[in-house]
Formats: sequence, structure tokens, C-alpha cells
Amino acid sequence: MVNKKVAVIGAGLAGLTTAYRLASKGVEVMLFEARNRVGGRVFTIEMLNAQNELSQIELGGQNITDGGVAANLINLAKELNLEIKEKAIKLKGAIYYQNEYIDVDSLNLGKLYNKNKLDELAEKSHNMGELIEGLCVNDPIIKQELITRLTAYEGVNVYQQSIYHNIDTLEATLLGGVSKFHEEYEHEENELITSSIVGGNARLPLALKKSLDQKLFCNKILSKLEMVNESGLNIYFTDNSSYQFDFVVLAVPVSTYKNIDLSHSGISPEKIFEMSQIQYGQNYKIAGMFNLKTRNKYRFVLAKEGISFFNFDETIPMLYMNNAVSNIGQYAEICARGLSNDFKLKKSAPLPAIDANFKQYNHPVTHAWGEDPFALGSYSGYSISISDKLDKKERHQNGEYKSLFSPINGKLFFAGEHTTILDCIATMEAAVESGERIAKAILLELEI
Ligand SMILES: Cc1cc2nc3c(=O)[nH]c(=O)nc-3n(C[C@H](O)[C@H](O)[C@H](O)COP(=O)(O)OP(=O)(O)OC[C@H]3O[C@@H](n4cnc5c(N)ncnc54)[C@H](O)[C@@H]3O)c2cc1C
Repeated sequence: MVNKKVAVIGAGLAGLTTAYRLASKGVEVMLFEARNRVGGRVFTIEMLNAQNELSQIELGGQNITDGGVAANLINLAKELNLEIKEKAIKLKGAIYYQNEYIDVDSLNLGKLYNKNKLDELAEKSHNMGELIEGLCVNDPIIKQELITRLTAYEGVNVYQQSIYHNIDTLEATLLGGVSKFHEEYEHEENELITSSIVGGNARLPLALKKSLDQKLFCNKILSKLEMVNESGLNIYFTDNSSYQFDFVVLAVPVSTYKNIDLSHSGISPEKIFEMSQIQYGQNYKIAGMFNLKTRNKYRFVLAKEGISFFNFDETIPMLYMNNAVSNIGQYAEICARGLSNDFKLKKSAPLPAIDANFKQYNHPVTHAWGEDPFALGSYSGYSISISDKLDKKERHQNGEYKSLFSPINGKLFFAGEHTTILDCIATMEAAVESGERIAKAILLELEI
């Protein structure tokens, strides 16, 4: 089949991977992106560290192996001649509780690990929040620790988290780890191996962009999708332009579907409703709120607002907040005190990052993913309202899909971290996996 045109909407890792694979096979593909930059929730900026050297900071996805081995992403990065670097992070932290810093190791989380008790609590609790409360009736400090960590890692509020999908993370935390995906990476000395693209994760979307040449169109905000007699689709943009394509790949976060008119897209109203039930975290990061002259033994500090840790090269302190925090300065000071006895707080409040990759800053910076109109959240989570439906998969002649995101009329395809058939939704690997799979499916349709 020749001369068939494919539109990909959204130039995050999912959309870029799809377009890159299709273009490399000679398919006529156009990639439309709402922002003036590629990468979506991969967003790298730069800042001078305490040694006066430029350091990369990830305001979005940081650790490539957060979802496990990340075979799809690593292969793609290697293919594009990008280098991946690993770093062992000491899992040595303190929890800030009632004006004190308590060594996490001293809490002995392992004492709460009892499979029978966990199964029993899982049976009678409605969500992870209730389960944690039942587990920690006599342990308010551990309760705070578990709630902060599960919210940070899984995105959505623990009282919205499904037990079936998130109990593994709780078990891994009790056993001294981070999640089931990190187990094989942990060293005996309680270190976690993290990985990142050398020079910043945004090098991956930028390398994909380079290979797409004239096929990428920025500042194009999709406003409507319309299935035309099952033979193709019309796509409409907010600048009043519209085009017809044989295939469309919708690679934008499902949280943003509500801003697109899908009423004539061929997606049934029931499906649109179910998709709208997928919840997104409100996590965000602030970089560079303080400088540390020296460091103490802790590599992270947990407080009820979130977790503070470092950027990949461990030179810039980061605050990872679970929700909006009213007094950032006070929270930053709590974190700084836990990480060092000798720190200097920056006087200015964090400013929103300019939506451009590798921009350099000399003041604290943040990006509010929940308010970002093209993300409307940090990442998707297994919440109680949708978790079972998000699990269902089906096999078609051209590949495997989550049932909720299976193709419509063989013309409209879905990509993005939320659509992955891997376990690790909400990751960069999930986004690349979805892009690779959807590109393969379209190539099969085109008999290429
Ligand atoms: C704070 C934070 C921390 C994270 N940490 C990690 C981590 O450590 N490890 C990890 O693996 N993952 C992490 N992630 C998740 C990871 O970044 C994402 O899962 C992944 O980047 C999503 O890629 P995507 O292509 O599915 O979506 P996106 O990157 O969101 O791409 C979608 C694209 O669609 C565009 N778009 C939206 N609406 C429209 C429209 N109407 N018209 C046209 N274009 C549109 C957007 O601008 C965007 O470019 C983190 C994310 C955040 C926010």
C-alpha cells in the first residue's frame, strides 16, 4: 500500500518514536506538536552547580530504569548514538517528623513486612491509603513515610491508588527498596542504580527530531478528530487549519483528551468516559532552591510535602513535591537542613521554567505539570476507578493493545505511556514501547 498518509499528534517520546520508525521506512508521516519544543514530559534544563559547572536537571522523566530494564528506550538511544550513564545512589535518608530528622534505617520498615497481614489488609481495604493506615496503626512516622513515598512513586494520591497494582511498591519499600522494578538493580549496600542519557534525557527527543527533518510541525494544537466514513480521519487545529489523513496516531496524554473534540472520532462515548477516569499525579520538581557547602550522610529527606534528592550527577538539590506546597521556602529549609549542616538558601522563589530544552538558569526553577495545558498532570496511575479496565489487553492481527486503547476502525491508533502493554505505565520506557508497537502495527497495515 503506497501513498497512505499518517499523522502523529504529540512529539513526546511516544509520538517521536512512532514518527521516526514510520519515516525511516519511507512512510509519508507528519508529526504535529502543540508546544514549540519536542520531548513533552522529558524536559531538561541546565544550572550552574556549587562547583560553577553546568549541570543538567530533569524537570520531567529522570531515571530511565524506573520501569525496569527499559529495553526499548535503551535500544533506541543506542541506535541514535546516545550514551547512557549509570549512577549508584545511596538509599540513605531521613524522615522529617515533628521537627526532627529520623534516620529511615532506624525505623526498621522490614518489621512491618508480614505477607499474611498484608494479604488480610488488602482484602478489607478499599485503597492503598486505607491499607497503609491499617498497617501502621501504632507507627505514625512510618505511615507518613509510606504515604509520601507511594504518592511520589505512583503519582496519584494513596487514597485513590488501587491495591492490586500498587501493593508491590509498598512491599518493595518495606523491604528496603523502591519498587518491584528496581529489585535487580539494588546493590547489597542499599544502593539504587539509576540511569540517564549523557548530557540530559532531552537529547533523546532532540535526536529523534533531527532525524524527522521537515516532518515535524510545532505550535499545532489539535482541537478535533473526525472519522470520515471509516476511510480516514480529518484533524483540526486551533489555528483553524485542518487536514485529512489515512491513519492518525494520538500520542498525547489521556488527561488532555478533554480538550479535544472526540465526539465524531469513532471512539464510543463509553470508552471516552472510561479513558477520562485515568488519574494523573500532580507531582512536580523544584531545582536549585539551596546550595550545599558540605553534605551529611543523608542523600534524601522525606517530609509530608514530598522528597528531596539530587539531580542525576548529584550536584543540584531537587525538591520533588507530591502536591502544591504553600510555603516553599520553609519546606526547602527543612530539606536543606536534613542534607547538610552548611547550606545557603536562595532568596528568590522558584520561577516557572521557560518551555525550552537546555535553557540555562541561575535562579530556582520549577514546572507545574498539573497546570501545563499539554500534560495536565505528571503521569498516569493505577487508581481505584479504572485499574481493572486499564489491565485488559487484546491481540489483533497487527499487534497487541490495551483494550481501552485498541485501534478504532483500524485507522485511529493510540500511543503514550498510558497505552503501554508493559507493566510500567508512567515511564519513559512505556512511552517508547507504545511508539515502537504502534509503528509496527501501521507498517503491517501498509504491508511494508
Ligand atoms: C515530574 C516527573 C517525573 C518523572 N520521572 C520519571 C522517571 O524518573 N523515569 C521515567 O521513566 N519516567 C518518569 N516520568 C514519566 C515520563 O516522563 C513520561 O511517562 C513520558 O515522558 C511520557 O511520554 P509520552 O510521549 O507518553 O507523553 P508526553 O511526553 O506528554 O508527550 C505528549 C506530547 O503531546 C503534546 N500535546 C498535548 N496535547 C496536544 C494537542 N492537543 N495537540 C498537539 N500536541 C499535544 C505535548 O505537548 C507533548 O509534547 C516523569 C514525569 C514527570 C512529569
